[in-house]
Amino acid sequence: MKVKKSLHLIAWLLLSSLTMIQSAHSTERASKPAAEHVWQAADGVYKYGTGHGFNSMFVITTDGVIVFDSANTQHATGMLAAIKEMTDQPVRYVVQSHNHWDHAGGGQVFRDQGATILAHVEAYQWMKANPHHDLALPDEVWAGKRKDLILGGKTIELHYLGMNHGLGMTISFLPKEQVSFIADLVTPNRVLFTIVPDFNITEWVRSLKEIEKIDFNKAIYSHTHSEQPFGSMQDVVLTREFIEDLQAAITAQFKLGTPFEEIPGKIELKKYKDWVGYKEWLGMNTLRVMLDMWMGPYPWRPTPHYE
Ligand SMILES: [Zn+2]
Repeated sequence: MKVKKSLHLIAWLLLSSLTMIQSAHSTERASKPAAEHVWQAADGVYKYGTGHGFNSMFVITTDGVIVFDSANTQHATGMLAAIKEMTDQPVRYVVQSHNHWDHAGGGQVFRDQGATILAHVEAYQWMKANPHHDLALPDEVWAGKRKDLILGGKTIELHYLGMNHGLGMTISFLPKEQVSFIADLVTPNRVLFTIVPDFNITEWVRSLKEIEKIDFNKAIYSHTHSEQPFGSMQDVVLTREFIEDLQAAITAQFKLGTPFEEIPGKIELKKYKDWVGYKEWLGMNTLRVMLDMWMGPYPWRPTPHYE
């Protein structure tokens, strides 16, 4: 009964925060023309986003445009308008970062213009099994750990690092421009998202260490609470340190013999007190990370044959 009540509370908190994000998002969008949501990261490389809402990347080449995460129809429509204000080149590819509906929606907007939607095979399989009214199933899939997209003189490396968040999570990296597009694995200036949905904590930390080896100097994060338009490697390091500090604080409580249900109320991580969600979500973060430490990492799956 107690568990049921807290699950209801968590579901309510999650829904209300999503609604808040969505309405803030729509108001801002309506008041600004498309191009005002564009920031240039490097030659031909842009962020399209709305402050604390959703951020995508697009790359303009001499042979077409590549979009990274179409998100939803409203976001994709705004991004397409912004791209059209900047170039006559058609959108040729949409690269979806992972399986989740809130990232991979809206692809039809670009497919209607002739674009090919691309995703890792793991993301594709999930999308096929879990349809959504705003989700266009990818036209092409890729497998394994790495694919290079080469178009109009630009090279984009697609990296699949194994399990971490969702399925088929793809880190996109332009080696010449030293810009990365990273979805959900890093959100600057914010604690972990609510109940840390669909993250395998152990594999996430491992993946962050691998991302720290990628040679980028600017990152476009799908979500951010920083005032800066672009993120850096420091945000990756801080995210990993936050998780590790939280795990260490939980381990200390385990050693003290604190009753399980009292631990979320006891954790303080002063270093991160100014991050968004510190007061509201740290308890939820703690509960989720503790369960991973207590039961073992989840979600988990056996290594597929293509890895
Ligand atoms: Zn996600």
